[in-house]
This record gives sequence, structure tokens and C-alpha cells, in this order.
Amino acid sequence: MRHYSAKKILELPRLSHLLYDAQDNFTPEKLITDLGLYEGVLIDTSNISWKTSFRHSPPLGKDLTIVTNVYVSEEVKALHRFLFLKENIMLPCAECKRVQVFSPMITINPQQLDTITLKDNYEVPYNKTVIVPIDQGMYPAGTSTTRNIFDPLRALYCSGKDEMDLIGNQQVNEEDIDTNQAALSCVEGISQYFSELRRDFVCSLDKSHHVTAYYIIHKATAVCKDKRESDEYEKLKYCLVLEKVGQEPSMADLQMFDIEKYNKVLSSDSFRDFSMALGLHASGVGCGSLLYLRRIYETLIKNAQDKCSKLPEWDEEEYNKRRFNEKIEYLESLGEKIIPDDLSGVKDKIYGWLSKGVHELSEQASKELFPSLKYSIELILDEQIAQKEKEDKLKELKKR
Ligand SMILES: [Zn+2]
Ligand SMILES: [Zn+2]
Repeated sequence: MRHYSAKKILELPRLSHLLYDAQDNFTPEKLITDLGLYEGVLIDTSNISWKTSFRHSPPLGKDLTIVTNVYVSEEVKALHRFLFLKENIMLPCAECKRVQVFSPMITINPQQLDTITLKDNYEVPYNKTVIVPIDQGMYPAGTSTTRNIFDPLRALYCSGKDEMDLIGNQQVNEEDIDTNQAALSCVEGISQYFSELRRDFVCSLDKSHHVTAYYIIHKATAVCKDKRESDEYEKLKYCLVLEKVGQEPSMADLQMFDIEKYNKVLSSDSFRDFSMALGLHASGVGCGSLLYLRRIYETLIKNAQDKCSKLPEWDEEEYNKRRFNEKIEYLESLGEKIIPDDLSGVKDKIYGWLSKGVHELSEQASKELFPSLKYSIELILDEQIAQKEKEDKLKELKKR
């Protein structure tokens, strides 16, 4: 489990931003396939909301009663919506090699298993461990639930429910609602009942195709490396951090069908390097993933050089004298595209990286450079695929 500074935790992306897009559409697939492994997501429980209304207490004509409803924060609501999602969603299927409709199975907490006793064919009892759906409607363990109407009002988190239970004196003013206490109850309840989660989705085309994601939810204070009291640490007491800790098929497998077409033009070594690079990048590895892309780049440059060396204007001596980026320029002047024109903005960065080497870049810089390099490689390969298809068609034509 990753540990962060208090400041860093408060800067983590928020769950509601992942689960809803700018138009407020629900986007659960972002939490299932887009979120990288071990990337923290913040769940802030502190924005407790409430609604008061008046109701006639029977018999009619008697005094009006104030009714208060207290609700969990928007982020906890988003979590609930994800946990109890029943609608079908679109997810990439590694076996169908395309995006498919997937239906969700019940969410389970792998730690909360149940044992049932069954009897075999000879009436001999045996124990079987069964998975149970996540708990709904449970108070955090250790919560006192003695209902005394003269006690101060308390809002209790009820696992999986957006509305909180109220105990104590409910004939109070709105300002008597202790939102800190309510938020702490959410943190307790969620960290107990949803500490570990597993969500399964089944492909509509074939029930044996599936996508599974595993998550862990920690109290934010538990993943904070600096436990000194501060304003920031105080805020963490009302927060949780969710991490995706596993996924099947893997990120790399899911991306495989994206890059499978490149199998046609890449050697098996380069193809493996390419999938490794994507897999590592998907798992949040910066430098390592670039290392594999570099190997592909070097091969592409070598191939371009072999091709150009057969041209009458090729000057071997001249080429060998040149520095690395000048070599690329030379190859490009002979009609080989090494870096696409629309990447001219990052061209210098790419040259720099290609000549200096990977380890001079920070992890963060590596991660930032990755998409441009992947794009460059894909453009070169797309070009090669188009070329190959053209040649194949021409061959076909000549056969007739
Ligand atoms: Zn730890
Ligand atoms: Zn499928």
C-alpha cells in the first residue's frame, strides 16, 4: 500500500470526478479499466447534507413535527452507486477483442466469507465456504445505538445507504446536527464493510468472458505517512482512500486488442516490447515503460537506415559522422518518417530522450512523454501497414 503526505492525499483525484464526467454522466468504466493500479482516489465524507420538513403528527390538528433527513456526502453517494450498480455497461472484452455490453454481478467483500454446512450423497455433512454480497444496512461496529430521545442528535452511517439513521433528540435545530460526528460514522462504516471489494462483470456474448476489478478502501489517516496534527491531517480524519489493487484481464491484456494489428509489421520481439511498454505504463511505471518503447524506436530507425542505404544518394560515411538526431534528420530527408509532423512541438524532447537515454528523465517526465512516443510509433506502423496492404493488393492483382 502506498503512503502519502497529508497534502498529497488531499490532492488525489476525487471519486465523484472519476465516476461522473463534465456532463454529469455516470462513468463506472473509468474506475474499472482506466484507473491505474495502486493509484489513490479520495473519498471525502465531510459534505454531509440535510433536509428538514414539517409533518403533521397524527392525529391531524396536533402540533407539527420537524422531520430531519441527513444524507452522506456526494462522494459516498458515488461510491454507493458504483457498488450497487445493476445496469449493463460497455467494457473492453479481451476475448471478443472489442468493446462489449457487460452485466454486473453482485459486489462482494472477499474478506467476508460465510461457511454453510451441506450434506453429501451419503448424508455426511461438510462445510462449504460461500461468498456473500456486501453488507447493506449495517451500523459501524462499536456504535452505540441506545435510543434515548433526550440524547444529543447523532447521524449514523448505514452501510450502502445514502440516508443516515438518526438517533437521539430529533426535535432540534439544523445547527445542532454534528456533521463531523456524521462524517466519522461514514469513515468507520465504509472502512469496515467495504475494506476490500471485488466487482465482476460478465460479457453479454459469452458468460465465460469477464472483467473483474479488486479494490481496497483505507482510512485516509492510515495511508498518511506524517501523522503530526495539522489542518490538513485534521481533514484526513473525514476521508477515505480507494485503490484498485487488481484487475482481470490485466491492463496490458485489455490494450492488446488495440495493438494487435501491429503484429503484421512488427517482429515478435518488438511486438512483445510494445505490449510490455503499454502494460508497464498502465501500471504507473514511467522509466521502465519508456525503455521498451526505445527499443522499438531503435529497431524502426535501424530498418529505415537499411532501406535508405540502398538508395543511390545514400552516403554511408556522411551518415556515420552525424550525431544521433542528425541521423534522424538525414533519414527523414530521404523520405523516411521517424517523428510525425504533428508532434513538432515535442520533437526536441523526443530527440533529447532518444539521444540522452531514459535514465536522465524523472518518472513524471517519462509518464508525460509516453503518449507522444506511443503515438509516433503507431503512426510509423500505421504507415507501414497501409504500405503492406497496398503491396499485397498489387500482388493479388498481378496473380490474375
Ligand atoms: Zn501501508
Ligand atoms: Zn466477450
